[in-house]
Amino acid sequence: MSKVTRFHVLLLLLSFCCLSLSAVDKDGNFVIVIDPGHGGKDPGAMSGKNTEKSINLNVALKMGQLIERNCRKVKVIYTRKTDVFIELNRRGEIANKANADLFVSIHTNSAKSSSARGAETYLLGVEENRTSANLSVAMEENKAILYESDYQTRYEGYDPKSPESQIIFEFMQNEYQKESLKFAGMVQKQMVSQARRSDRGVHQAGFLVLWKTAMPSILVELGFISNPDDCRYITSQKGVEELATSLYKAFVSYLEDYRKQTAKSVNLTQTASGSSKSTVQDTRQASSGTTSSPVFKIQFLLSKEELKSSDSRIRNLPDVDYYKEGGQYKYTCGNTSDYNEITRLQAEVRKRYKDAFVIAFLNGSKITVREAREIIDRNGR
Ligand SMILES: [Zn+2]
Repeated sequence: MSKVTRFHVLLLLLSFCCLSLSAVDKDGNFVIVIDPGHGGKDPGAMSGKNTEKSINLNVALKMGQLIERNCRKVKVIYTRKTDVFIELNRRGEIANKANADLFVSIHTNSAKSSSARGAETYLLGVEENRTSANLSVAMEENKAILYESDYQTRYEGYDPKSPESQIIFEFMQNEYQKESLKFAGMVQKQMVSQARRSDRGVHQAGFLVLWKTAMPSILVELGFISNPDDCRYITSQKGVEELATSLYKAFVSYLEDYRKQTAKSVNLTQTASGSSKSTVQDTRQASSGTTSSPVFKIQFLLSKEELKSSDSRIRNLPDVDYYKEGGQYKYTCGNTSDYNEITRLQAEVRKRYKDAFVIAFLNGSKITVREAREIIDRNGR
């Protein structure tokens, strides 16, 4: 395989791994990760004594404080709260480990020309009619990895100095794109209305910091440190407060939307189980029915939404089914009372989903695999 092809296979595998991550806090909190760009030995963009890293941190801390003070059942996690260096991939890892629901990376722009000004918001991807300006913003931000000693292995050959390296992002299929775009739009709207920033719009580009996040994620460029007016504003207390309030208000809009949607999906499930049976219950009754024999299945994927049967993530797997737990759709495949058969299937499924595991049901209720095997042993005797 060529280096590039191998890279794409890796990307595919990685996206499968990301899919199997859960995104619900065990206490039922909405989790937002706030990522102040750069830090420590990496100052980011600079102008005189002003550094991007401290502007980003000031706005991030203020945004988090507003959320913590005003939003119920929301947990705020920062990738850094002080002036320390954090690797780009580590930032995404922090969000994934926390099962975060939203990721926002805060940055400050810089340009050769001091006339460039205004705020812009990004999500991961490649625009059809991409401009060299968007490309260079991403390349500039990705240069942070040059401060990392082993960046060549960590980012699988990505070269932040080569525009050709950006091609890796063309193959990104991000299932959170729709939600990321929605949040980016909300942020940009507030940047313009609340903070009265000049509007540079919402764009897509290949940012390594958003690369492996398994949740809706955006990157905001607050303004240009290289523009005297922008710089004065973003380094002033008033500016920091207004920018943080803009981000906070965008977050509140997103959260309200999210909670409305979640409430709607809970209602739908209740209606479905009350009147007409859902497909899940049908299959469960068919499979476990009156025989009282446990069945084994392979759980391989979590999703916040019900997936279409044509969805590539569940295609070409036998007996695909799901059950709902903790507000999530938990997808399974296989359906057998034969434990050996299910472990054979597990080995197959693990080629696609490395964390796939065996679960068991008895009359539609989840039981432990051990209980299921004991019942089957007893019945067999
Ligand atoms: Zn930056």
